[in-house]
Amino acid sequence: MSCVFCEIVQGTRKGYRIYETDHSMVILDINPLAKGHCLAISKRHVQWWHDLREDEISDLFNACKMAAEKIKKAYKPDFVMMYARGRRIPHVHIFLIPTCKGDAIDRFFNALEGFQESVTELSEIKLQFDEISRDLLKSD
Ligand SMILES: [Zn+2]
Repeated sequence: MSCVFCEIVQGTRKGYRIYETDHSMVILDINPLAKGHCLAISKRHVQWWHDLREDEISDLFNACKMAAEKIKKAYKPDFVMMYARGRRIPHVHIFLIPTCKGDAIDRFFNALEGFQESVTELSEIKLQFDEISRDLLKSD
């Protein structure tokens, strides 16, 4: 199976690397949503971030922090937003996007606030999570 991110990690495809560790790499997104938009990827092919090992997760999160410091210095955003993907390209990738109040990212996430759960739904979700927590504690 070919994977664009694995090819970049292996060096068989061009990637604009801005930071790299043993387990992670940060590259410029080739379809940026803002100037300085980066993707932090795991070097190991895994679709979802929660399927990474703990050492890979901490390495990836630290790589995100280093990249965010570079983005902040270069573009002076209000903050660097992050979110994880893996659906369109089935390889862990964390979006790191510089954002400022009123830009496209800010407006997009403000629009999502119209889809928030009600207090009743939150109570039901909380009960469901409490039950899952009890099950997880039993299995330890
Ligand atoms: Zn891959």
